[in-house]
Amino acid sequence: MQNKGEIKNTFLFIVPRMPVRLRNSLREALYHNTIQSLLNQKCKNWRAIILGEKIKVSDIENEHLVYVEADDLPKTDKLKIALDYISSHPELTPEYIIRLDADDIICPQYLSKIENLSERYDLYYDEFHVCIDPVYLKISYRKNAWIANTAIHKYVHAIKPCGPHNEVLFLQDHDAFWHSYYADKKVFKSPKLTPLYYRILSPYSITSSGLDNNDHINWNNHLAYLNSYGPWISLHSSFFGFDGIKKVHDVFEAHRPKRPALYWLFNRVKFIRDRLIRHNIYKGGISVRSEVVKIPTEYQECTRCLLTTLDTSVITFDIAGLCSYCNYYESVTSNLGTVAERTKWITAKIAEIKKEGHGKEFDCILGVSGGVDSTFLSYWAKENGLRPLVVHFDNGWNSELATANIRNICEKLGLALNTHVINWEEFKELQLAYLRAGVIDMEALTDHAIMATIYEIAAKHKIRFTLNGFNFATEAIMPKSWVFDKSDWENIRDIYKKFGKGKKINTFPHLTFKQKLIYYWFLKLESIQVLNYIEYNKEEAKKLISEKLSWRDYGGKHYESVFTKFYQAYILPVRFGVDKRKAHLSNLICSKQISKKEALNELQKPLYNEQEFRVEKEYVLKKWELKEEEFDKIMKLPKRTHDEFKTEKKLWGKYFNLLNILKLRFK
Ligand SMILES: [Zn+2]
Repeated sequence: MQNKGEIKNTFLFIVPRMPVRLRNSLREALYHNTIQSLLNQKCKNWRAIILGEKIKVSDIENEHLVYVEADDLPKTDKLKIALDYISSHPELTPEYIIRLDADDIICPQYLSKIENLSERYDLYYDEFHVCIDPVYLKISYRKNAWIANTAIHKYVHAIKPCGPHNEVLFLQDHDAFWHSYYADKKVFKSPKLTPLYYRILSPYSITSSGLDNNDHINWNNHLAYLNSYGPWISLHSSFFGFDGIKKVHDVFEAHRPKRPALYWLFNRVKFIRDRLIRHNIYKGGISVRSEVVKIPTEYQECTRCLLTTLDTSVITFDIAGLCSYCNYYESVTSNLGTVAERTKWITAKIAEIKKEGHGKEFDCILGVSGGVDSTFLSYWAKENGLRPLVVHFDNGWNSELATANIRNICEKLGLALNTHVINWEEFKELQLAYLRAGVIDMEALTDHAIMATIYEIAAKHKIRFTLNGFNFATEAIMPKSWVFDKSDWENIRDIYKKFGKGKKINTFPHLTFKQKLIYYWFLKLESIQVLNYIEYNKEEAKKLISEKLSWRDYGGKHYESVFTKFYQAYILPVRFGVDKRKAHLSNLICSKQISKKEALNELQKPLYNEQEFRVEKEYVLKKWELKEEEFDKIMKLPKRTHDEFKTEKKLWGKYFNLLNILKLRFK
């Protein structure tokens, strides 16, 4: 217990174990699931009092687990013993207390999630009760009107005598008085897909009545019990990480009664009905976005996409083995709403842009690189009757094909083109400073300048809307260690100060922290990620723009720029061990535009062929006025993270704190 001081007493679980006389190997396996689900918690500020027989050598020893002797007693008595134990051990007094049955599973990241909420609640509970049937490997979600037994109570409430019998709240039957007690308190209902806990309904569950006195299973009773829940959908394999579930399934697989096809048909109808009336039944449900359980310590690859622990250290995996980026993809795309909701949103937005732009020469701004996304967006804008001012930012690295493409697009669509050419000498110095500094995101320079240029033009022409080609379908996944905040001017300045050759930078378009706030608060500029709101398929988009706008392919994402290609196909993989195609292809897997097998095949293709590499390397070095030996030497210099330089992170932190104080919300 030497680390005891390090654990904060935020959460205390009370786990009454099954009496010794009733235990069997399956109940033991399910009990271990429960403990495993606690030990998996990302948040470590918890303890659990386990009420059972006298401490045995076989008990898991852990600084979070406290064993208290209380075998073969009714559950309420056990809870009472636990409360007494806490009052005689004041060092255990928690902020919150939770009852937990010895076969249920606490969602692995629930504690850390609520701990990170900006406010504390009196009670946290599940509005949607999630049950797992380990025998048939099914799961069901049901919105129930009552607070389940397993809920997180503030300790001060839990120990309060109240209700008609003036009994301690925690010891009361859960659906009796809890609702009226918490009616005027602050309660937190867990989001549908991230419940506090999963209830396991096995024939051994206390409530099932699936066992007779001799521990024989009465299947009729148990199946009737299961039928009172549901509809049941397939359990995601993520849960097989809990051995108990798998074990129960394996043991009963040969013995369980076969459910008639009609039962499953009816179940399916129930499921569809619930979908239709939006009763919040999600196929795959929580498992797809199940919570992150661990920070991997050894090699692990995502079960869906191409990312592995070798690609980035900023990656975690959930119990399905799905990486944090796939989970992120799922959550951002589902937040966008249904196709109908998205269509409604973008249609309203188009009307708003047109209305505000009435009488003006342009109603929106559109940045164009000549790539697929921005080209398609130009086509879309024109089709929808918008009048964009097309802005192209030339950082000196445009391929001839890109220049031709952009000119072509604007001519064909009859759009006004506003090209901004950067001061090459300055830009070259900045790029070389980044190269010498060994920071990863060399593209931050261009992206920052584009952002600054577009904002400046928007302010000048008093255009509030910019159309943005960013889309989750192809760009949501990007390991955090591969890029840095593009808007951070402080970082660019500091890197240049330390690794530049001292030439003054006067004309490079940039946005200071203050300017960003002014643009946001006073000019109310709004950037619209159009492609997220329409059906966007990259291959179809390519086909369309090739046919309609005679657009020609570059043979790689962002290869419209010679530098981008050299950076992604040589500097990143050779110096940083990063192959950006992996993120891009992973994204296409998530949006179901390619299969994992196709993605792996694509990844096998070489980034450069020898001849092409020679030509492009020579071109890049000539443009940078760098000798080959010098470049090769720089490529071997130490790497640094962007965070080793000044950043605007602290300023943003203070700003958000201030907003919180003013009770404003930054959207
Ligand atoms: Zn993944």
